[in-house]
Amino acid sequence: MAAQPLHVLIAGAGIGGLCCALALQRRGFRVTVLEQAPELGEVGAGFQVSANGSRCLADIGLGDELPQLATQAAGKQVRLWNTGQTWKLFDLGAESVQKYGFPYYLIYRADLHALMARHVRERQPDAIRLGAKAVGFTQDVEGVEVELEGGERVRGDVLVGADGVHSRIRRAMFGPSDAQFTGCVAWRGLVPRDKLPAHLHANLGTNWIGPGAHVIHYPLREGRLVNFVGIVERSDWQVESWTERGSVDECLNDFRHWHDDVQRLIQGIEQPFKWALLSRQPMDSWTDGRATLLGDACHSTLPFLAQGAVMALEDGVVLARCLAAHRGDPAAGLLRYQALRLERTSRIVRGSAANAARFHNPLLADAAEASRYVDREWNEDSVRQRYEWLFSYDATTVDVGGALDAQATN
Ligand SMILES: Cc1cc2nc3c(=O)[nH]c(=O)nc-3n(C[C@H](O)[C@H](O)[C@H](O)COP(=O)(O)OP(=O)(O)OC[C@H]3O[C@@H](n4cnc5c(N)ncnc54)[C@H](O)[C@@H]3O)c2cc1C
Repeated sequence: MAAQPLHVLIAGAGIGGLCCALALQRRGFRVTVLEQAPELGEVGAGFQVSANGSRCLADIGLGDELPQLATQAAGKQVRLWNTGQTWKLFDLGAESVQKYGFPYYLIYRADLHALMARHVRERQPDAIRLGAKAVGFTQDVEGVEVELEGGERVRGDVLVGADGVHSRIRRAMFGPSDAQFTGCVAWRGLVPRDKLPAHLHANLGTNWIGPGAHVIHYPLREGRLVNFVGIVERSDWQVESWTERGSVDECLNDFRHWHDDVQRLIQGIEQPFKWALLSRQPMDSWTDGRATLLGDACHSTLPFLAQGAVMALEDGVVLARCLAAHRGDPAAGLLRYQALRLERTSRIVRGSAANAARFHNPLLADAAEASRYVDREWNEDSVRQRYEWLFSYDATTVDVGGALDAQATN
């Protein structure tokens, strides 16, 4: 009789949890994804998926459908907060595919999330359980048991805590985390393109830099929307949440001396949201026997390299490959996964924090000084050093050890 496939419990149906579910399903595992929310969904916001992430999306079987769903910007540029002076950062589009084999996508989060959920359910209709909030777990030599709010217990062979920045699974493993407020607040919002002048319709990602703040914007949904993120140093707001509403006036006030293009973008936002940015030190380990963590649950990062969700995608693929390569010994597979992911994700957490100082440098207050500063910090060599190692990483081939059956097979 054929052995039963391992049953993996995943707490959290965010981008990371669903990627992990698909990567496991494609390698023959059974999954149960426990999601606290009563309905599936994602916030109305965009995110950038560099080639190292779109490679993972291809691995989980979404490669054919993504081009219809995602935007591929032609490139990225840096602009100065007050004069609007512009520098090229790098080319994207065909260049990303040529250099790294995969596109750099700009994706509306809810679109990707819905696509992932559909694929998970097509493979296993009962895979996602809604209204299932994990509050703790226990394990023994044969498996794990997750406790849900309300008292129900769900048993499986392995547990993956993909339950985000406020992870209950992390807390059950390691106790409360030591998050520190960074002194930065992130504004986010969507702007319909028809509210913007034509020169802001360009198919480019733009990174405005200035003393004490920066702004990122890029097109979504074939350019019909523009995703706005504005980060400002401010100490009076400390709630870390995707759903806290702010007002256009408050956001405008935070960027009151900035270039007219930034003001136009903010004026076009239908509903701005604000998120206090907290930082956490990289963890030394996040695996305990048959339980492990993934994504923001174990390495939440400031969004200054645009790699948080991409790291969760990489985690999902590497974790599935490790479990597939160590089917007879899941705890060994999880340790291998952790060993492969610790250094890279810690480097990203530190690199993102370093970008805060770079983007918000006081030298940017003076236009002449700013020009020298940008030439120094954003010249081709510096940019290559900061991004090449990120984009060229291949989660589908890192050495997972064990047996040779770690590739997706269906
Ligand atoms: C302003 C901003 C901009 C960003 N831009 C980018 C970008 O351009 N590119 C990029 O790669 N990253 C970006 N990020 C980071 C990215 O959003 C996160 O890293 C990513 O969402 C992490 O995914 P996750 O699946 O680990 O966690 P989450 O997306 O937080 O998902 C966690 C899931 O678990 C569920 N859950 C929580 N607790 C429980 C529980 N106890 N039981 C069951 N379910 C639970 C939640 O409801 C949710 O569905 C940005 C972040 C911010 C704040």
